[in-house]
Amino acid sequence: MSTPHEIVVLGGNFAGIGLVHYLFKITIPSLQKLDPAKTFHITLVTPNTDLFFKIGSPRALINDKQIPESKILRPLSEGLSKYKPEQLTLAQALATSLDASKRTVTITPVGSETTKDLPYDSLFIATGTTSASPLWTFHPDPSLTSTALKALHTSLPTAKTVLIAGGGAVGIETAGEIAHFYPSAKITLLSGAAQLLPNSPPVLGPRAQSYLETHAKVEVIHNLRVEASDLSATGATVTLSDGSTKTTDLYIDATGGKANTGFLKADWLDGTKRVLTRDAYFRVKGNGSDDVEGVYVLGDVTAGSANTAMVLDAQTPTVASAFAVDFARKAIGVEAGEKKNPGLLGGLVGLVFGKKAAAPSLVEFKPMKDTMLVPVGPGGGVGLIMGWRFPSFLVAKVKGKNFLLELVDPLLTGDKWKA
Ligand SMILES: Cc1cc2nc3c(=O)[nH]c(=O)nc-3n(C[C@H](O)[C@H](O)[C@H](O)COP(=O)(O)OP(=O)(O)OC[C@H]3O[C@@H](n4cnc5c(N)ncnc54)[C@H](O)[C@@H]3O)c2cc1C
Repeated sequence: MSTPHEIVVLGGNFAGIGLVHYLFKITIPSLQKLDPAKTFHITLVTPNTDLFFKIGSPRALINDKQIPESKILRPLSEGLSKYKPEQLTLAQALATSLDASKRTVTITPVGSETTKDLPYDSLFIATGTTSASPLWTFHPDPSLTSTALKALHTSLPTAKTVLIAGGGAVGIETAGEIAHFYPSAKITLLSGAAQLLPNSPPVLGPRAQSYLETHAKVEVIHNLRVEASDLSATGATVTLSDGSTKTTDLYIDATGGKANTGFLKADWLDGTKRVLTRDAYFRVKGNGSDDVEGVYVLGDVTAGSANTAMVLDAQTPTVASAFAVDFARKAIGVEAGEKKNPGLLGGLVGLVFGKKAAAPSLVEFKPMKDTMLVPVGPGGGVGLIMGWRFPSFLVAKVKGKNFLLELVDPLLTGDKWKA
């Protein structure tokens, strides 16, 4: 057996976990059919030990009964313990720098100041974004997500005023949930733009606003942003973009996140600090002089990302195909799509599996476009499926009922990928 090919995956949530399963279930077996002597080891570097199904957060923040925390924070071990130590190592750490010339990532284990250099043969960057509030993404201390959910469970029942900043899907869903479950609270939603859902087809935002305003105590305000917030034990005071201040019992920041790329050189990144790609298969572009062979990116941290989990259904097979093609060319000596003389061992594998070994091919990236579901409370909401309007009652049925919790298990276990 050869020395294992070391694959390092940075970031262990939607993109990273999905990728690890995809590599073990589909990509690695296909490469081993081509050359059974090749072995692989994956190191998953991530600070969290749970999968965070953040899609459920707007309902889970209401109380611990609607969606118990244990349904959206699930131990990674439930999905990863099936892999042996010689296949997978979980490093509970943050990537803190990268040396492309040495092909190493420096990682800092959670709770430690001692760093460690991790060599890689192939590297996948899936570090996502960090939102101001840990309600929507993990923070470097992942336990803050649970703390933030619990804090709202305590404070929401007595809050008379709630201010939410952010007119995207997360802000709308959160306002809709609070309006439904705490109808006596006065809710102010600041879109921060000229309308809700400013980056979506223009009909959706006003429609979402009219659903929100069926609740007498919801007010939606446009073109006003929160510039600063001062939190205290009894509430918050926010400074707004028109210079005024506002006090509120509860302030929820639902504005977007910042890309987790502080460990990369600035010239690998676009204007939003997301990782630039050099082709449609998510190979990292780099800066023209650094060695970026075998370096790939996926998930929200990708330049131009749609910032959805759904896009990963298409992006994961595509980026894995780029890795497979690059590995087959470099380590096995076959070009994409080429048939390989299987040799004695490969021939036996072919006999057993009844298949000829073929070199991998690139998989085109074909995400489902113009699709989004934004519940406004459990009873309805706005949505588009491939650009077509999705009726409110179907938004409620598909997402509003349980916030897509049925997707957690297949993601966590890898069952979503069919070999
Ligand atoms: C409330 C809400 C509702 C949503 N609803 C939908 C929906 O209905 N449909 C949909 O398709 N999408 C939805 N999304 C978007 C979807 O959740 C994201 O697109 C998805 O989580 C992106 O996955 P990711 O793995 O790229 O990033 P993340 O899920 O953010 O994961 C990034 C991981 O990287 C880790 N990390 C960070 N920095 C480092 C580092 N330096 N080193 C190592 N690891 C690091 C983090 O701890 C985390 O584990 C929603 C998002 C939110 C917040």
